Amino acid sequence: MARNTEAVCRKCRREGVKLSLKGSRCGTDKCAFTRRSNAPGMHGARKGKLTDYGIHLREKQKVKNFYGVLEKQFRKYFNMAERAKGNTGKILMGLLERRLDNIVYRLGFGASRSQSRQWVAHGHIQVNGRRVDIPSYLVRQGDKITVRNRPTSKKVIKLVIDEGIHEVPDFLLRDEGEIPKGTVMRLPTADDVLLDVNSALIVELCSK
Ligand code: SF4
Repeated sequence: MARNTEAVCRKCRREGVKLSLKGSRCGTDKCAFTRRSNAPGMHGARKGKLTDYGIHLREKQKVKNFYGVLEKQFRKYFNMAERAKGNTGKILMGLLERRLDNIVYRLGFGASRSQSRQWVAHGHIQVNGRRVDIPSYLVRQGDKITVRNRPTSKKVIKLVIDEGIHEVPDFLLRDEGEIPKGTVMRLPTADDVLLDVNSALIVELCSK
């Protein structure tokens, strides 16, 4: 499986925004972006003005890095959004927000999206009572997301929940019982995305 192996903090510095890719560390003064917000690399500190294409490209890369998706998969979401009725940019953001790894993260079961992706891929998560190990699985309204009832799954995820890294958004409902679980109360929209994105720029770029 293809992976982007670039150091995660460099991504924040390149995009000029905190993407919160490292879990609890992101909220501390150890955050690399807080300490040095210029772009990485030898000439990062004297980065010139971006071209029009550069502005469009950076917006797309920012979203891809935020959700941890590669170009091919991002294109698939874009094509799905383009085929659907409505504002393509907003539908695209809603689709990305529906990914199972993102939902696991937003429920507070994972400290970061990459850790949540691991929880899913390693079989710690069930959807409607069935194990789902596909991080890109798109949740639907009413889906029940449960941590598998086995000691290792419950232990690793309880540790993250106890850290209480972030608040659960209103489109999800988390049950704090013995087995951590959550329900998708409604489908997320572009307004639920925790990143300031100009999705129109992405649509313009991808439509060319
Ligand atoms: Fe980004 Fe988190 Fe690294 Fe800070 S600590 S630069 S927010 S990934």
